[in-house]
Amino acid sequence: MTKKTDGKELQKQLAWEFPNIGKEAPEQREKAEKYCRDYKGFLNRGKTERECVREAVRMLKKAGYKPFDRKASYEPGDKVYYVNREKALIATTFGKRPLAEGLRINGAHIDSPRLDLKPSPLYEKDEIAYFKTHYYGGLRKYQWGTIPLAIHGVVIKKNGEALTLSLGEEEDDPVLCITDLLPHLSAKQNERPLKDGLKGEELNAVTGSLPYEGEDIKEPVKLGVLALLHDRYGITEKDFLRAEIELVPAGKARDVGLDKSLIGAYGQDDRVCAYTALTAEIDTKKPEHTTVTILTDKEEIGSDGNTGFNSDYVLHYIEDLAEMEGVPVRDVLRASLCLSSDVNAAYDPTFSDVYEKRNSCYINKGCVLSKYTGARGKSGSNDASAETMAKVIAIMEEDGVYWQAGELGAVDVGGGGTIAKFAAHMNIDTVDLGVPILSMHSPFELASKLDIYNTYRAFKAFYKN
Ligand code: MN
Ligand code: MN
Repeated sequence: MTKKTDGKELQKQLAWEFPNIGKEAPEQREKAEKYCRDYKGFLNRGKTERECVREAVRMLKKAGYKPFDRKASYEPGDKVYYVNREKALIATTFGKRPLAEGLRINGAHIDSPRLDLKPSPLYEKDEIAYFKTHYYGGLRKYQWGTIPLAIHGVVIKKNGEALTLSLGEEEDDPVLCITDLLPHLSAKQNERPLKDGLKGEELNAVTGSLPYEGEDIKEPVKLGVLALLHDRYGITEKDFLRAEIELVPAGKARDVGLDKSLIGAYGQDDRVCAYTALTAEIDTKKPEHTTVTILTDKEEIGSDGNTGFNSDYVLHYIEDLAEMEGVPVRDVLRASLCLSSDVNAAYDPTFSDVYEKRNSCYINKGCVLSKYTGARGKSGSNDASAETMAKVIAIMEEDGVYWQAGELGAVDVGGGGTIAKFAAHMNIDTVDLGVPILSMHSPFELASKLDIYNTYRAFKAFYKN
């Protein structure tokens, strides 16, 4: 029997706490710093799902990936990609084992909360022109006032030509802005609950203030803006009806903290998992199991729509793979392992009461494995099996990946979902894995470089096996 004096030793053997990587593996600081340099570039170039797809395709082509052709035959190590309607993407590295032994599937999402222009957005009120917006995803509206907003999107012109818009990211570009009241006049607004600090129909972005010069006409400021849009892009008011235009926080990803340990940027939910998944996919050479890396759209509004994970596009892709090998797709799905790669809420000491300390994820403790998400009694959750948890933990520990476990906040405080349940719906063993985030869904989300680097390491280990 263990003696009393051996308590510390026994505690080390029997109890478990996740370590801080900065303390346990300081040598990773430099590696994480280096890895995150390109990640910041990815965030700056990919501020919408379409831009992320374009950037991903550029990276994949550079790494030798070819468009997927279901009539072709592929060898272990061959690399292909498939684009779904410019807004979602799947990449594969063919593995050594037959598909009946399962795929290694990794799904992250590339849409982020933002302000979409309404179909008929432009109006003038009291000699100021505005764009009307409709928020996309779960955002806290009051956070989106008085910050510079950039315009990103696409207009499909009458002749079918696709016009790509990106305005507000260069230093001398103009930006748009949603106004808010000055403190001197906000006594009444201050009484509103925080969720109504700015209301949905107050998310109107200032678009111009100069009237069209010359003759006396109705709504001259609106016309001034329309004239500028026509000069610059050749579009008219009607073209907004054939467009997807998104207002996102303008500006680049930045290092945060005097020690530069964090990255602050818009859209890290979930481009942080998209980038780590994509680079791990690219760096996988001749895996055991065939990989399926999915960068999907529409997660923030429930994964619906034909570019969202709840559409059959992923299933159809896997069906194509299965048919190529002449194996029933259900056998492939049943044997597969899927990471639903999404962020989780990092413990925030300033708002500690919404977390349960023992079961929260922490900055600098590595990627977070979330057995379940959902709300209330795990409603809407995948709730991964013990067997699935064991498999994924073993994969990470074999490669010395720093990981932690976490729930999304304390019980009954709130909740949220991911794509996990849709993967599980296909009869695939699935679990959530991702990066802890502070200020999630805000215009400037924070993530730790060490956590990002270890998420990449987790995905590499996952694909290798
Ligand atoms: Mn997410
Ligand atoms: Mn989200």
